[in-house]
Amino acid sequence: MSQHQERDLLARVPDRLFIAGRWRPAESGGTLEVRDPATGEVIKEIADATPADGMAALDAAEAASAGWGGTPARERGELLRRAYDLLIERQEEFALLMTIEMGKPLAEARGEVTYGAEFLRWFGEEAVRVQGRYGPNPEGTGRIIVSQHPVGICHLITPWNFPLAMATRKIAPALAAGCTVIVKPAALTPLTTLHLVQLLEEVGLPAGVVNVVTTSSSGQVSEPIIRDPRLAKLSFTGSTPVGQHLLEQAAQGVLRTSMELGGNAPFVVFDDADLDQAVDGAMLAKFRNIGQACTAANRFIVHRDVAEEFSRRVTERVRRLKVGRGTEEGVTIGPLIDDRAVDKASSLVQDAVMRGAEVTTGGEAVHGDGSFFAPTVVTGVREGSDILREEIFGPVLAIVPFEDEDDAVRIANDTEYGLVSYVYTESLSRGQRMIDRLHTGMMGLNVGVVSNAAAPFGGWKMSGLGREGGAEGIHEYLQTKYTLTPNP
Ligand code: NAD
Repeated sequence: MSQHQERDLLARVPDRLFIAGRWRPAESGGTLEVRDPATGEVIKEIADATPADGMAALDAAEAASAGWGGTPARERGELLRRAYDLLIERQEEFALLMTIEMGKPLAEARGEVTYGAEFLRWFGEEAVRVQGRYGPNPEGTGRIIVSQHPVGICHLITPWNFPLAMATRKIAPALAAGCTVIVKPAALTPLTTLHLVQLLEEVGLPAGVVNVVTTSSSGQVSEPIIRDPRLAKLSFTGSTPVGQHLLEQAAQGVLRTSMELGGNAPFVVFDDADLDQAVDGAMLAKFRNIGQACTAANRFIVHRDVAEEFSRRVTERVRRLKVGRGTEEGVTIGPLIDDRAVDKASSLVQDAVMRGAEVTTGGEAVHGDGSFFAPTVVTGVREGSDILREEIFGPVLAIVPFEDEDDAVRIANDTEYGLVSYVYTESLSRGQRMIDRLHTGMMGLNVGVVSNAAAPFGGWKMSGLGREGGAEGIHEYLQTKYTLTPNP
């Protein structure tokens, strides 16, 4: 990828807010810098929204609300389908943009475009499948009518780790349901969202249906929007502490909320597992997105009899990973998002080692420009180590041995999170028992990646509320009305 191509692409990405169908600077004229985490260099300056800009976006979403809600579902669906087609056509440039602003290797960024685009296609199809019910009441005295309606204006807050997919996973169902939105991407990776919204404008999205505010003052811009009675729905993806804080704000107006929060996924390998398959799955579940996924396997809980062999094989594979800027040929591990993330990975490894674990490869920051951490394997991690309790969000694979099935279940469920679990076993009955016994909203049974636009993504416990994707996803943006009418 040439520097010229990168410069040309960055020049074409809007640097302003998108409100009421117009690209405009922040009211204050302020800007924020976006950096490449692989080099630390500033790649673009964009508008830094103030609370007044946030309110202007809310006004715009309100003005467009009745028109968009009244637009035939087929038209809304076809618009999403056109956006899907154009996004796929531009896969290469969206992938490059994500790699530049977020750091993931280009091959993975291409995968995210396929995954992220799928939400536009899926919910474009779902738009025309919103259904109600009509039937007699049990007493035979009247008819019950159940109908679905767009929930109204939505505030969508997205994280930096999947800049495209987290945006389409919210925007597509909201638009399909007939809602208008105010999107606030993460300040670290706002460019992909701006580029996406430009594409939505190009396929003919009416003014005010999608509004985007980029800001370095997330709390100040979002709070007045959340507290405004015109807002009907808050959908947030990000860390659990910020999610809790936003739920408190949302409680005042009894706002509908969807929360996709943190994870601490167990990856359980039984002694009857196909180890080749388990190692392949482990590499994906751990190192995809440089370990920076809410679905990343955080704890490898491996039966004592196969723990040594498993750790030998993964260590060998991890030593072959190539660290570098995501645009370089063959790179499989890009930078972490910032130096804080590197420090966190370092301290979690140090704490595990202090408590008796052993590092078989990696274990340290990679010095030089950018925020790199060496892909790492830590074995023999003791219960009580911080690395088993906290989200690592980095390329560190931590192995803890277990004795029997009950022990594995106990360790796996010993967390406040409940997003996803992975289980490797060749026994069908054990696999089925694990579906019942593990307390997570999703499970990969002999697979290392579960995300799919056609499936309900979401967590139990402190991993969140609601589901994104699947037939369930559009219901987050609909509200139900029951009407009773006498017999005709
Ligand atoms: P974060 O919570 O720091 O930020 C998420 C978003 O919230 C960003 O846009 C940020 O600007 C915004 N934000 C922060 N404080 C805010 C406030 N007071 N008011 C309004 N907005 C605010 O999370 P992050 O570091 O961007 O993302 C990583 C986290 O996201 C991890 O915990 C990860 O597990 C989680 N995540 C969850 C899912 C899921 O689907 N469950 C998916 C991706 C990431």
